[in-house]
Amino acid sequence: MMSRPCQTSCVPRPVLLKADYVIVGSGLTGSVIARALIDAGRDVLVVDRRDHVGGNVHDHDHESGIRVHTYGPHYFRTNSDRIWEFVTRFAEFFKYEASLKTLVDGKHENWPIAASYIAQHIGVDWKPKFTGTPTNFEEAALSLMPRVIYEKFIKEYNEKQWGVPADTLSADLCKRFDVREDGEPRLKPDCKYQGIPLLGYTHLMQQMIKDIPAKLNFDYLKRRDEIQADKLTIFTGPIDSLFDYKLGKLAYRGQKRKHSFQPGAGFAQPCGQVNTPMHSQGPSIRTLEWKHMMPRDKAERIPGTLLTTETPFSPTDSSAYEYPFPDDKNAELYRRYRELADDTEQVLVCGRLGEYRYFDMDQAIGRAMLLAERILRNAPDADRLPNG
Ligand SMILES: Cc1cc2nc3c(=O)[nH]c(=O)nc-3n(C[C@H](O)[C@H](O)[C@H](O)COP(=O)(O)OP(=O)(O)OC[C@H]3O[C@@H](n4cnc5c(N)ncnc54)[C@H](O)[C@@H]3O)c2cc1C
Repeated sequence: MMSRPCQTSCVPRPVLLKADYVIVGSGLTGSVIARALIDAGRDVLVVDRRDHVGGNVHDHDHESGIRVHTYGPHYFRTNSDRIWEFVTRFAEFFKYEASLKTLVDGKHENWPIAASYIAQHIGVDWKPKFTGTPTNFEEAALSLMPRVIYEKFIKEYNEKQWGVPADTLSADLCKRFDVREDGEPRLKPDCKYQGIPLLGYTHLMQQMIKDIPAKLNFDYLKRRDEIQADKLTIFTGPIDSLFDYKLGKLAYRGQKRKHSFQPGAGFAQPCGQVNTPMHSQGPSIRTLEWKHMMPRDKAERIPGTLLTTETPFSPTDSSAYEYPFPDDKNAELYRRYRELADDTEQVLVCGRLGEYRYFDMDQAIGRAMLLAERILRNAPDADRLPNG
């Protein structure tokens, strides 16, 4: 019979890494908290299981010199002076106001949908097919637009995105788009500050955590016994993974990205993102052309263009988690994990994966600033924080 590894009598492995505050994850949430704690003179260590800092805002250069956002296109925007001052402390931004198109009946139409498109194809005196309080995504969408428009632009896009029928999705998802009465083509025309870091998001994040001790290729869950937080562990990974998925797995959608370089081409699309909503257009939901997301003069000097299609799937590997699944079952499961997290001493679970919420970058930064303030207000005496 094989002998089992001893549980009690062996000398425990020594703690190799130690800090008052251990931050798991170098994405925006972890890095903003780390920066605030270091600026306030605290002892901090950041660990990340990936081989790079920055979490999902990471970017890199393709061999052609075209900058690619590794985990999908990231357009920075905020109305907050404070958040804009914070990010521009670390990097210069160039102005970039995203405009998206949807490929419908072979033409590039505005996204969000222009009221003029509806007027042209349906007329102006259409009545919503649904009135009252919507109970699902389809009802919510039909209260905003005629059915035929919903079917061309939205229904199948969301079925591809989430992998389920549109009438099983949450009505709240409709809050992410509208019908543009004025035909404004920019995605967020009212946002005060919009842009992309001139030298890229990776540079921004490296600057943000410059001088902060950080260890990469370190999976906290696999190496917990090698690390010690004397005051608080701030965990920004998936909340269910922290508890070894003991209540079940929260569902996510991710995207498979397929890149194709077209040598010699100038620009292939009218804008950086073109949606392909119909099942008949294939399984991908959008095609990205990265050159549009670079300063124009630099992009024009690069011969060739890089296109990337994004095809949604349900990842089992948590490093591919992108969008929390918008339904009641997962909201309830998250609530139960949140109770466990709130009852865990000296651990704060936060960020888009820790709070099982889609945060835009500025929301992630704003939330992290708030949490850092709470940590600093409670420190050094209180070692337990409200997670909410
Ligand atoms: C496809 C896509 C497109 C987006 N586009 C935009 C956009 O255009 N504009 C916008 O404002 N926002 C956008 N966002 C949102 C933006 O990506 C988030 O706001 C941001 O990534 C949140 O940062 P975070 O630190 O909370 O999470 P993350 O960036 O995911 O960071 C979590 C970190 O924790 C690490 N980690 C996890 N588990 C462990 C572990 N066990 N041990 C060690 N490390 C671990 C991960 O490796 C990761 O680095 C987009 C998101 C997606 C998915």
